[in-house]
Amino acid sequence: MTEILRIEGLQKRFGGLVATDNVSLDVHTGEIHALIGPNGAGKSTLINQLCGELRQDAGMIHLAGRDISHMAAPDRVDLGLGRTFQMTCLLEDFTVRENVGLAVQARDGGNFRVFDRIMGRASVWEETDHLLQGSLLSERPDDIVADLSHGEKKQLELIMALATQPRLLLLDEPMAGLGHVESQQMIETLKALRGELSILLVEHDMDAVFALADRISVLVYGQIIMTGTADQVRGDPRVREAYLGT
Ligand code: ADP
Ligand code: MG
Repeated sequence: MTEILRIEGLQKRFGGLVATDNVSLDVHTGEIHALIGPNGAGKSTLINQLCGELRQDAGMIHLAGRDISHMAAPDRVDLGLGRTFQMTCLLEDFTVRENVGLAVQARDGGNFRVFDRIMGRASVWEETDHLLQGSLLSERPDDIVADLSHGEKKQLELIMALATQPRLLLLDEPMAGLGHVESQQMIETLKALRGELSILLVEHDMDAVFALADRISVLVYGQIIMTGTADQVRGDPRVREAYLGT
């Protein structure tokens, strides 16, 4: 299987507005595929259609050869479609380790018990500690999430997404709101995932896109106007006009 994701003719209307217009796109297995485009182009709509939070009006989505177009969101996660937990999902009063433990246990369909602390099985904590090792938060498992910086919370979101063991990870602007140092850290974290899974990366930060992406697709007014390498995208007059503004 050379494609982890194949999208064909995906369409979403909001009243008279066509947010995604006949979008077709492949993500190759193991690649980091960036999706760029101006504000309002339909990038988040596309991500939400892929993970099943929004139903398409037309079109098909295949994950590793399986048609998931009409599958419920949790079933897509079970098949290996991961996305970041938004920061609003973090339990601020709990520790880093407890939050990751929650994500591990949620994947297994376990009933975690949240009283004043989170109770989990030993196997959950083993996997939690494994996920934390080698992450930027490895030295801080017992820190309370409320005390983390914005960048650290974004790292935590990512670790929690990895807890679902995705084959394809959907990231909607992971660099948003990060300072330079934090962005660089996020780039390094994502680089280290290369080869372990495939990533569809929506991102405005072009330094990050050019540093990470194997291929780039450009979405404008709901339509993919091109897919290519960084050099091809940089050199395309339509992209420069529509997006890069030069
Ligand atoms: P992007 O993520 O590329 O900035 P979005 O996918 O968020 O773009 O939005 C694409 C277009 O669809 C925008 O014009 C936006 O206003 C519109 N839109 C997005 N979500 C909704 C919604 N739930 N209801 C109505 N219009 C929406
Ligand atoms: Mg968006």
